[in-house]
Amino acid sequence: MTNPDIIYTKVDEAPELASASLLPIIQRFASAAGITVGTKDISLAGRILATFPEHLNEDQRIPDDLAALGELVKTPEANVIKLPNISASVPQLVAAIEELQAKGYALPNYPEDPQTDDEKAIRAKYDGIKGSAVNPVLREGNSDRRAAAAVKSYAQNNPHRMGEWTADSKTRVASMSGGDFRSNEVSATLKHATGAKIVLETENGTTVLKDGLSYPAGTVVDATYMSAAALDTFLAEEIEKTKAEGVLFSLHMKATMMKVSDPIIFGHAVKTFLAPVFEQFGDEMAALGVNPNSGLGDLLERVNGNSEIMSAIDATMADRPPMYMVDSDRGITNLHVPSDVIIDASMPALIRAGGKGWGPDGKEADAVCVIPDNSYAPVYDESIAFFKANGALNPATAGTVQNLGLMAQKAEEYGSHPTTFEIAEAGTVKMILDDGTVLHQHDVQPGDIWRSASARKAPIEDWVQLAISRQKATGYRSIFWLDETRAHDAQLIQYVRPILQAAGVADKFEIMAPREATRASLETITKGENTIAITGNVLRDYLTDLFPILELATSAKMLSIVKLMQGGGLFETGAGGSAPKHVQQLHGENHLRWDSLGEFCALGESFKFLADAKGNAKAQVLGDAVEKATQGILDDNRSPGRKVGQPDNRDSHYWFARFWAEALAGGPDADLAAEFAPVARSLAENEETIIAELDAGAGSPADTGGYFKNEGAKLTNVMRPSPTLNGIIG
Ligand code: NAP
Ligand code: MG
Repeated sequence: MTNPDIIYTKVDEAPELASASLLPIIQRFASAAGITVGTKDISLAGRILATFPEHLNEDQRIPDDLAALGELVKTPEANVIKLPNISASVPQLVAAIEELQAKGYALPNYPEDPQTDDEKAIRAKYDGIKGSAVNPVLREGNSDRRAAAAVKSYAQNNPHRMGEWTADSKTRVASMSGGDFRSNEVSATLKHATGAKIVLETENGTTVLKDGLSYPAGTVVDATYMSAAALDTFLAEEIEKTKAEGVLFSLHMKATMMKVSDPIIFGHAVKTFLAPVFEQFGDEMAALGVNPNSGLGDLLERVNGNSEIMSAIDATMADRPPMYMVDSDRGITNLHVPSDVIIDASMPALIRAGGKGWGPDGKEADAVCVIPDNSYAPVYDESIAFFKANGALNPATAGTVQNLGLMAQKAEEYGSHPTTFEIAEAGTVKMILDDGTVLHQHDVQPGDIWRSASARKAPIEDWVQLAISRQKATGYRSIFWLDETRAHDAQLIQYVRPILQAAGVADKFEIMAPREATRASLETITKGENTIAITGNVLRDYLTDLFPILELATSAKMLSIVKLMQGGGLFETGAGGSAPKHVQQLHGENHLRWDSLGEFCALGESFKFLADAKGNAKAQVLGDAVEKATQGILDDNRSPGRKVGQPDNRDSHYWFARFWAEALAGGPDADLAAEFAPVARSLAENEETIIAELDAGAGSPADTGGYFKNEGAKLTNVMRPSPTLNGIIG
């Protein structure tokens, strides 16, 4: 079976709802140029079903689309539009399984505490679906993210509201001064290709933690650990200090992406915050199945009904600093669910708000932002210091920070999950190469979190070349965010400098540690100038939320291009996630505030890529017209509003179709012009009817037949409610 020309991924939550309306429009327009647009299912529900065929009826089974896409992206044929999908935490995974079971899929339960071999095998399969299981498979290239010119100039002309920063703000970042991943890191570049294993040597013998690793020559291999004792001491101190300072306590991390290490760190915070309760009732709570890593929300559900424990919790909470709230109306705290507070979204939102978070009283307050590991915390610390000194960024005049991120082939920490271990017994962890060389070793204590991460030579070289070409294309100030005092970064610098020198462009680039680079970048954009941040994988993720959220109010409107190393193209839509709150709003009052601008931008790039790769002139015309339509949406203010009664996602798609058809009708391709002139005319003539039909259901509940798995017909009814528009689109 041949693949469609363009693949549009089927995902979850808000972007999936939006696709039900937008994709039929895209398919109709593309077909006029003989271009096929197909789908591949990478949704959480889809991935669960594809993983357990043996538990399903014949007609319930679905192919493993993620595996197929993982192969496709290693070919020059790949042209994939990738929408954001759920990176499931355990509570999300369990909820999805329950919904599918209720729909008649006989899936096994998620074994929380697997005992038998059978349970362990099921758990291993579910763990493969958990966390960020999709992006690392698809990202066979490095990342180029920036605001399209139209998007940036719209933001400058229509600046969003920014919270005020004052010099007396008590908001601050707290991170560990030792014992963390940053300070324990060691790193080396492999001279030869080699296999490797990781072992733990203790008094009682040697345990193999991981065997069968293999690295090509030139791979930068790191090892490090977070000391559990140092972490607990740090957390306890910060809880006390926060209380003394009279501000909110908050923890910021990435339990979704860092699916092995960060839930453990989150669990330490839950345990430390409720230390007196765990001391007194630890055994009872363990018997009730309490796992602090799952959060306070899960804990409260499990101990609910035990009045002794509940009153101990109340007494402890009363003695603690007030907590930063995810949802103060519903009593959801920072420590309720590990995936509720995701650092790359939470810290920029707090900074945009002038350093304020929401307290339990429903009021805004200053906060201590606990970011235990010190590798990247300085970015937020320095941003806060900068805005305290200079006031908030002015989006009307600020320049832009673009990003080029090392990402391919599971680079750095984001690829470290299979080589991350919570240490059971005191001893020495060794990473041993095939020839017996001990590459790295650390003495560890029980509970320490040890991990190894790596970055391969080919992606590193590709990333530096990409930086050279973007610098050349823009002339912007270009900074490698690398810290020569950090073990891993020092190895990368060994690659970067010679490549720049060989290309004769060393004088066009600066190399700075994250803190200095943050300050330099903020100074640059404050002057209205632009800069390129050339970063590793984690900062790629963090910065492409931080700067867009300050500059554009959201990261959802970013152009996000992955130039695949084998020649294909992967076009990610925006840099944001799947906006669960938007689904609640649609289900509650039939209003979808999701903005598909990221999809529009990716679509334009995808057509242009097709034009270049296949010499398809009509694809170029379609792509240029998409850009005009996107500009039209911005200029005419046709993006969705936040509240019911305002235009929503579906209305914006009507306008997108109309502007797209108008651009084609007036465009250079005679066939496309002839085909779309009448479409454009009908869309304009029927504007009132279509908008009335689209908005008819606003205010009442909408049933899409599920949360993780919608029912096709119900979803179509909700998302394509205008017979007139459907008739014109066909
Ligand atoms: P999020 O979904 O980006 O939501 C944060 C907020 O950003 C939203 O609530 C919404 O603000 C705003 N937002 C994001 N995209 C928007 C859009 N297109 N239009 C309008 N507003 C938009 O982040 P999250 O809550 O941290 O993550 C939710 C889920 O997404 C998680 O399961 C996470 O794993 C996943 N995720 C996936 C990817 C990816 O696949 N690349 C990336 C990040 C996160 P308002 O609610 O104020 O309107
Ligand atoms: Mg991010």
